[in-house]
Amino acid sequence: MENLGYYNGSFGLIEDMKIPMNDRVCYFGDGVYDATYTANHLIYSLDDHVDRFFNSAKMIGIPIVPSKKDLKNLLQEMVNKVDSPEQFLYWQVTRGTAIRNHAYPESDIPSNLWIMIKPGSIKDIYQKFKLITVEDTRYFHCNIKTLNLLPNVMASQKAAEAGCDEAVFHREDRVTECAHSNISILKNGVLRTAPLDNLVLPGITRGHLLHFCRQNGIPVDESPFTLNDLMDADEVIVTSAGALCIAASEIDGFPVGGKAPDLLNILQKSALKKFQQETGAL
Ligand code: PLP
Repeated sequence: MENLGYYNGSFGLIEDMKIPMNDRVCYFGDGVYDATYTANHLIYSLDDHVDRFFNSAKMIGIPIVPSKKDLKNLLQEMVNKVDSPEQFLYWQVTRGTAIRNHAYPESDIPSNLWIMIKPGSIKDIYQKFKLITVEDTRYFHCNIKTLNLLPNVMASQKAAEAGCDEAVFHREDRVTECAHSNISILKNGVLRTAPLDNLVLPGITRGHLLHFCRQNGIPVDESPFTLNDLMDADEVIVTSAGALCIAASEIDGFPVGGKAPDLLNILQKSALKKFQQETGAL
């Protein structure tokens, strides 16, 4: 198959799938999701993404029907059906199907499981990103990977219109994360990244980056940093499942980073090595 849509046991081409109008995602975005990439039909960091998926669902009280093991098997089964060996693999769970009402429906209504797979590959790790800064107007549940993504979508559109790759969110002076990535900086040999509070998604790739730092003796400082710190950083690093460790060269039209290429290279090599080891990708 060219691509794949899955909904509660039925699957087919995405464009042929039909979803009930009363799925609570339609009215409220009432659900959580996760996503990663494949290469050679092997799923990158599946355990980490499935663990976070179950945590996100638990945080908003959505029961997931399959066990973690069964979900992983199902995802692999669906990945195997898609022709392209390199895929973007996305899945979500929503709080069931019920007539529109803000409060949760009866608890015996089962949640809905969705999977979406399209051809896609991780970005070239050695490219340089151009970024813009955008006031973070999101709410205070950014640690939960919910489907309420309107401010992220608006910020991404603003970045695209500016010819940029990502939008960096800040709350007044404090840098939080990006529209669909985390952001970290290298300064004087130390990697700084926002702490994991309710303003930031606990990115799986962010976690890997911190692990690579520790492996390579690079100190890590998980305390808030500012827009000034960002502009003045030795390197600015964007991380996500699709952008494993990509440095920025420009923010709001001003040059940034480029002052610690050796440290950056160590982290990029580590990220690529992990991806290659898990997927066999070249
Ligand atoms: N922050 C936000 C808001 C995101 O949407 C994402 C990815 O979707 C990330 C960070 C990076 O998370 P991960 O590394 O798990 O892909």
